[in-house]
Amino acid sequence: MRGNIFEIQHFSVHDGPGIRTTVFLKGCQLSCLWCHNPESIQVRPSELAYVDSKCVCCGVCFAVCPAHCHRVEGDKHVIDRQHCTFCGKCIHLCAGKALTLCGQEGISAEEVMEEVLADRRYYAESEGGITLSGGEPMMQADFVLELTSMAKQYGIHVAMETNACYDYQLLKEIKENVDLFLVDWKLTDPQKHMKYTGASNVRIYENIRKLHDEGRSILLRCPIIPGLNDTEDHFKKIAQMTAEMKGLIGAELLPYHNLGVGKIEKFGLEGQINYMTAEKPLKESVNRWIELCTAFGGRIINER
Ligand code: SF4
Ligand code: SF4
Ligand code: SF4
Repeated sequence: MRGNIFEIQHFSVHDGPGIRTTVFLKGCQLSCLWCHNPESIQVRPSELAYVDSKCVCCGVCFAVCPAHCHRVEGDKHVIDRQHCTFCGKCIHLCAGKALTLCGQEGISAEEVMEEVLADRRYYAESEGGITLSGGEPMMQADFVLELTSMAKQYGIHVAMETNACYDYQLLKEIKENVDLFLVDWKLTDPQKHMKYTGASNVRIYENIRKLHDEGRSILLRCPIIPGLNDTEDHFKKIAQMTAEMKGLIGAELLPYHNLGVGKIEKFGLEGQINYMTAEKPLKESVNRWIELCTAFGGRIINER
């Protein structure tokens, strides 16, 4: 079984307990306006990145591209990514290292495990493991099943970041391999959820409830996005969920950051992906929401 991944990040410390190797899988069925990995959303296996400030105008990419993807319009370097076959010719010859390819098409679960196993001694020391992230890992459920089964054979702790917005049956075998689910709760209002992510949150809530009722280990991850979800009702709901579902580890409130916005230009995603910008919430405001959740009986696990 082969999958499409866009990054393997070593020594991650924010994607579950201990030191972790995070495998980012390509493709997501949602399109959250604040996504900090917008290059992960489209299902295609790779993305061509271009950083204009690094270009030394050597002209090689214009000459070597078999699909004629590079051209100049006015004084602007324009790339027609729709016709890019990701052959890599322009990237290898780019004098300024302005061009890079993000994503590996058709990597095998064995190849991923080989990289993961290289970090294994750090897991033992820190009680870490592997985290599957994305995109949405469950978009490649067969690959995830194979990868997580292998990880379990090696006795490696498995965490999965997921939006939980899919048929619960999809998790049937995979959930037995996952030690920790990191599930997003993004917006409480179903209409707003639909508007800003492309899907309702009704099924997400149901899936969290089902995982909880089966005794799975779950941590809610809740982005704070000023102007979009920073309302009392939303944080009261988070408090209510952690209070009602006593088996939940709790909720982690994650302040919005705008790293995704720069990637829109870098990966040429303008016009293909909707996105927004917002101010990063101040520490005081994050603390205020933590206090509100706590006052309403919620379990918030943020460090302050
Ligand atoms: S990766 Fe290949 S097809 Fe894509 S722009 Fe570069 S040379 Fe052209
Ligand atoms: S090959 Fe690289 S440095 Fe040369 S023109 Fe193309 S992007 Fe710029
Ligand atoms: S679910 Fe996650 S990866 Fe998918 S669009 Fe939303 S933030 Fe991005």
